[in-house]
Amino acid sequence: MEIELNPNWKKIAINMSGGADSSMLAYLIAKQIKENDLALIIQPITWERFYPSNSPKNWNLRYAANAIEKIKELLEFNPFEKQYIYKPVKKHKLEDWDEIIEDMKDIESIIFNHLNCDWFFYGTTCNPPLEEMKKIGFDIGRQEERDQNADKSGFKQTNPFCDINKKDLRDLYIKHDVLKSLFPITRSCEGSAEWTDDFTKDCGGCWWCYERWWAFGVPDEIKSVAKSKLQRSIEEVNRAKAALEKSIGSEEEAINNVKKSKKLLDSTIAKIATLKKKYEEYMEKHEENKIEYSKNVEKGLDYYNNAKKNKEISLKYVEKMNDYHNKKKHYLDWLGKFDD
Ligand SMILES: [Zn+2]
Repeated sequence: MEIELNPNWKKIAINMSGGADSSMLAYLIAKQIKENDLALIIQPITWERFYPSNSPKNWNLRYAANAIEKIKELLEFNPFEKQYIYKPVKKHKLEDWDEIIEDMKDIESIIFNHLNCDWFFYGTTCNPPLEEMKKIGFDIGRQEERDQNADKSGFKQTNPFCDINKKDLRDLYIKHDVLKSLFPITRSCEGSAEWTDDFTKDCGGCWWCYERWWAFGVPDEIKSVAKSKLQRSIEEVNRAKAALEKSIGSEEEAINNVKKSKKLLDSTIAKIATLKKKYEEYMEKHEENKIEYSKNVEKGLDYYNNAKKNKEISLKYVEKMNDYHNKKKHYLDWLGKFDD
């Protein structure tokens, strides 16, 4: 992959997060500068993160600094300026894309006015194909923005990885023979400090872990942690399922209830229709029975509403059960990946 570098540029900024994407991008650009003997300086920029406030995910600074050192060592070449730490104006509680865009506007003036860069690069791979993600049960929690590849800030920037996913990225690591050197010191997991021994291990449960494993395989050191975590999740689902069954009845009963209540509902609707017809005919002849008539219709409606409510309750129950089955399947699928 050839990154387009304008020969007139003197200095470019690269957003380095310590992740596998941005580390590979920095490596590729640094290598290109070395091989083409370009007079181009790289200004690495790392975003300091303050959320969640009780356990800030401040690993980016460390991991990005390590990646820079590793790239210098691997290439025996140093095109890097000192790492610039960007402290966002807004201390995000959550990763909010709109707020990030707002910060991007703030960082724009830093990059181009304060740091005097000619261009800004960031490397963010696109999501794995949705079908594939569904198949292995991690289609929920991905950033849909990553499918749009849109440049929302409007300033001079490029994401050379907008059309490649994590598996393509792994191919780049292999092609450049840095899979065993650069890749292991990068980090993708977004788990909290306490789940990851202060960001020294993968949490084994976040979307980013799954995406990384999907492309690069499950690392040995995480297998036992991930395995016990998945087993715990399965136990949790089993407990929730058992509690639900205890409160409402077995799953078979619930499915039967749905069928039964549907039948009841249909027959009630038919019954009401016949009743109505019958009473209308009757009413034509006996105007004095009007009150009796409306009472009966009300009764019929009550009956109907009850049947409808029962059906809804049963349907919800079946839905919940399906949810448990899907979750369990997802956990079991992943558990299966640890056995080989
Ligand atoms: Zn994780």
